[in-house]
Amino acid sequence: MKINTLQDLYVEELRDIYNAENQLVKALPKVAQAASSDELRSAVEDHLEQTKEHVERLDQIFESLGESPKGKKCKAMEGLIEEASETMDEDIAENVLDAALIAAAQRVEHYEISVYGTLATFAKLLGREDDADLLGQTLDEEKETDETLTDIAESTINAEASESEEEEEEPVAKKSKSR
Ligand code: FE
Ligand code: FE
Repeated sequence: MKINTLQDLYVEELRDIYNAENQLVKALPKVAQAASSDELRSAVEDHLEQTKEHVERLDQIFESLGESPKGKKCKAMEGLIEEASETMDEDIAENVLDAALIAAAQRVEHYEISVYGTLATFAKLLGREDDADLLGQTLDEEKETDETLTDIAESTINAEASESEEEEEEPVAKKSKSR
């Protein structure tokens, strides 16, 4: 299909993220299952429920556009999920695995944040305020999830992950600013 207008591009991009969100609905249960900390597992499970709502919001938008949501494969999300599952298949210590899962999940959130930011802007430019509102709600949830993941990484995971190499700490010499 030839993309002639911003509206055409908007619909194409919506199809792309629709496919990406559906890939995530399938992939997130595996991530939750792989997580070793309860905190991470429940954060991923919560986000799975939000992700299902993201799909529903997109369904609503497609309905009001009178367009089909089908017809695109998000290769970027496919790649991000593939890398995450490679990590899960690797021989990786349990306490480091969570750090790796968070790293993978944050890549996904950042991808979504950029897509929804763009889509909300397109919606506004096209005068589709209701869409912009729905897309903005999803955007906020992706941002919150990203922050939650950062909090988990900072509080528990990275401390656990560095435990094995933790030895008596020497005072860190103050780095001089001169080069
Ligand atoms: Fe999402
Ligand atoms: Fe997300």
